Amino acid sequence: MNKPRTTQKPIAAAQTMKKIMADHFRGIDAATRDPGRKVAWCTSVGPAELLQGFGFEVYYPENHAAILGATRKATDYIPYANAIGYSPEICSYLTADVGAHLRGFTPLTEAYGIQTIPRPDVLVYNTNQCRDVQDWFLWYARRWNVPCLGVHTHRNVGTVTGDHIDSIAGQLRALAGKLAQIAGHPLDLDRFRESVRLSRRCSELWEKVLKTGAARPAALTFFDGTIHMGPAVVLRGTQVAVDYYEGLLAELEARLKNGVAAVEGERFRIYWEGMPVWGKLRPQSEQLAELCTCAVASTYCNSWIFNQLDPAQPFESMARAYTELFIVRSDEVKEAYIARMCQEYQVDGILYHDAKTCPNNSNSRYGMPQRLTERLGIPHLVIQGDLNDLRCYSEEQARTNIQAFVEQLAENR
Ligand code: SF4
Repeated sequence: MNKPRTTQKPIAAAQTMKKIMADHFRGIDAATRDPGRKVAWCTSVGPAELLQGFGFEVYYPENHAAILGATRKATDYIPYANAIGYSPEICSYLTADVGAHLRGFTPLTEAYGIQTIPRPDVLVYNTNQCRDVQDWFLWYARRWNVPCLGVHTHRNVGTVTGDHIDSIAGQLRALAGKLAQIAGHPLDLDRFRESVRLSRRCSELWEKVLKTGAARPAALTFFDGTIHMGPAVVLRGTQVAVDYYEGLLAELEARLKNGVAAVEGERFRIYWEGMPVWGKLRPQSEQLAELCTCAVASTYCNSWIFNQLDPAQPFESMARAYTELFIVRSDEVKEAYIARMCQEYQVDGILYHDAKTCPNNSNSRYGMPQRLTERLGIPHLVIQGDLNDLRCYSEEQARTNIQAFVEQLAENR
């Protein structure tokens, strides 16, 4: 008799999330046709709260690019961006999104009946994550002749100092001056503070959601996190996101109370370092579930925790929240963070995803896996792949390597 297939337990709140994400996209689409409303594009860890303080509808192209990846459309459109000079070696969010736009395609049509991505009144980036977002936004700015503004963050930062914060807070204040001209009115300080407050609350709830992965057995997996992080990315600063995470947290706390595992028969626990392979979430999560292995925590999902936000000091606290981010920091700080996470979540090993087109989120290229293995005494595996470009990912090779890695974890017991 065949062994019953071990599965990952579905989360009921997913239905609510689908609805609020649909409302988000339809709301922005409607705003593009309303002369009384303005749309701003924002990078995923950009100054969303400030834009909300001006009343902009905020759209996040990285989220759109991730949908292209998750629906396995990205690889089809990347070559069209390559053909206009955007290398296959650079961010495959950028190339997939620009390529899809050049071909008049968006996955929002099939999902929500939306014909095109929203044309912005302004594009606003923060280089805290990478330079690619700046190039990406500038491409659209030239195409549509709309203003493109940015915050330029220090990179590879060890200790975040007062000078860093002053520099970024100063840039945010200068940005507010330029946004006022585009919005046609000054910043509504009360609205700005409220957005910062709601963003902070969203962060606190999201952190609690992720911490349910620390329980034994874990109540959610990295793969759940990649799906349920949507509102933390695109709806932070709103009551909708706060309500959503209160509901999700209640569901997960009920799991904890009843000892319900996200992965039935959990035996091994791993940390996922790096980006998801968006087009392969399902087969990867199924394989790990079949191996009774739970990816209990990740750097990626934790990157949308901004507990530094403080409505009493909106500019300075935003500067701190968006500079203390993992991706901005030196290897020394990153290693200390991962070591802490591995201990808190009691992991047996670390899986690094080396994403071909995102060196910024790939931390396996300069000896970090070896240093952390030595420091923590747990094994690691590096899988080669990409966030969106599936030509960089060999499913067969990844499956074989993951299987061998879990056998190694079993031998270590
Ligand atoms: S951090 Fe990586 S995936 Fe994200 S926009 Fe930059 S290059 Fe692309």
